[in-house]
Amino acid sequence: MYINQGVCTQCTLCVPYCPMRAIASDETTGHVEIDQEECVECESCLRADVCSKGALTMPVLGWPRILRNRFSNPLTTHPDTGIPGRGTEEMKTNEVTGRFTRDRVGISVELGRPGTGTRFYDVEKVAMAVARLGVRFDPHNPVTCLMEDTTTGKMREDVRGEKVLSAIIGFDLPREKIVPVLDKLKEVTFDIDTVFSLDLVCRMEEDESNATITLSKERGFIPSINGKVNVGLGKPRARED
Ligand code: SF4
Ligand code: SF4
Repeated sequence: MYINQGVCTQCTLCVPYCPMRAIASDETTGHVEIDQEECVECESCLRADVCSKGALTMPVLGWPRILRNRFSNPLTTHPDTGIPGRGTEEMKTNEVTGRFTRDRVGISVELGRPGTGTRFYDVEKVAMAVARLGVRFDPHNPVTCLMEDTTTGKMREDVRGEKVLSAIIGFDLPREKIVPVLDKLKEVTFDIDTVFSLDLVCRMEEDESNATITLSKERGFIPSINGKVNVGLGKPRARED
């Protein structure tokens, strides 16, 4: 996003609408400008519709900058998944797809938030840390699609410096590997310049117990149990294994 200085009146009305604080008045020139390093092309400023002068201008984005928009604007459909947003659809509909069986746990690591964002070199640090423990990256995930090597978690060189509002690493692993992976994720927090939250996807036992939740508490994580129930949305493909 950039501001057409030919029509901008420097009113600053757009400034508070930027989740990355990328819009600011330049103290020297007095111009309201957008820091192109920090702008994640989310279009929030444009959607706020506060600029009566039409000064906010969205250019046609080339590669790799277009990734900023795909990962940061929730209304943009991601070409690798065919759905809007940064994640994969199936994590939330496991009762239909059966991607996560009783002996495998799904994990999403959601890096970045409004105000901080994340760069793909930090995404890579987390992905490479867990890849060493033998996790299986989700092939339909937008971050996996940007990896140079899905066995090591290494990202493509041309995307590593791009900044996005947030990015989700998705993978699954055998249930018995959950403890080393949780410990590794705690360790890697000291190496990255952003925040992340974790989603755990696991099937409940017949008696409604869940060992994964107990283990994550023991490793110092505070689980907030969110549920999503889809009724009659599809024919279950889940196998009981
Ligand atoms: S709202 Fe429009 S005119 Fe006002 S500072 Fe922002 S870009 Fe300039
Ligand atoms: S596109 Fe998003 S990040 Fe860029 S200036 Fe507008 S609100 Fe800020």
